[in-house]
Amino acid sequence: MNDQADLIAERIAAIQARIEAAAIRARRVPAEITLIAVTKTHPASRIAHVLSAGVLDLGENRVQEAEEKQGCFAAATPPRWHLIGHLQRNKARRALGLFDLIHTVDDLRLAETLNRLIAEDTHSGQRRLPILLQVNVSGEATKEGFALIGGVQSANWPAFVATVRQIVALPFIHVQGLMTIAPYSDDLEGVVRPCFRSLREVRDRLAAEVPDGDWRHLSMGMSGDFEIAIEEGATLVRVGTAILGER
Ligand SMILES: *Cc1c(COP(=O)(O)O)cnc(C)c1O
Repeated sequence: MNDQADLIAERIAAIQARIEAAAIRARRVPAEITLIAVTKTHPASRIAHVLSAGVLDLGENRVQEAEEKQGCFAAATPPRWHLIGHLQRNKARRALGLFDLIHTVDDLRLAETLNRLIAEDTHSGQRRLPILLQVNVSGEATKEGFALIGGVQSANWPAFVATVRQIVALPFIHVQGLMTIAPYSDDLEGVVRPCFRSLREVRDRLAAEVPDGDWRHLSMGMSGDFEIAIEEGATLVRVGTAILGER
């Protein structure tokens, strides 16, 4: 063990304790929540420390970078790779072979492209690709995600549900829930918590209106706000800086 490995292991232990405490506060089962270590921009050597510390879910935001890093691992227990950055349609084919869960599907054409590529690939075993739908409920953080400002109150709701129905119906796509990025704000109670709560309300309403979908996951919460996200129902938290330091 070197210093870097010890430091990363200590930070991970501290975060896992905070995840557990937040879950208990919210009367949730801690095992429902998965910590994703966001390793973007960090070298493969550091990712090895993350894996040694027992975190096997890794988040990357670029196809190219994930491809380069994945070549560095031949672990006994292979990690699960999460795509948490925007996916361009022209990179969809490469992403298919790299990621276990794509968090950032935010338009019908991208979903249709992924579906078609799997259908055409006779070596895929015609698996269903797990994805999350990225939703923008606050309008501030990013331009990405289905625009649903105000959540279930949005005037876009009927069009959004119609699109979600089309995606859920794609045979090689397995929608497993929703993802959001909160606005960057110090106002955790006034801005960040309402954003997470809004995503949960969207999920609950979809579960009622699109019951043939699988709505198990809410991917929300980063280094500065993962405890609030857990209190509001997160099942996947994406933590980078608090584990690996500044990028
Ligand atoms: C970089 C990133 C994270 C991690 O952010 P930290 O503040 O470093 O924890 C989480 N989610 C997404 C979508 C990201 O791009």
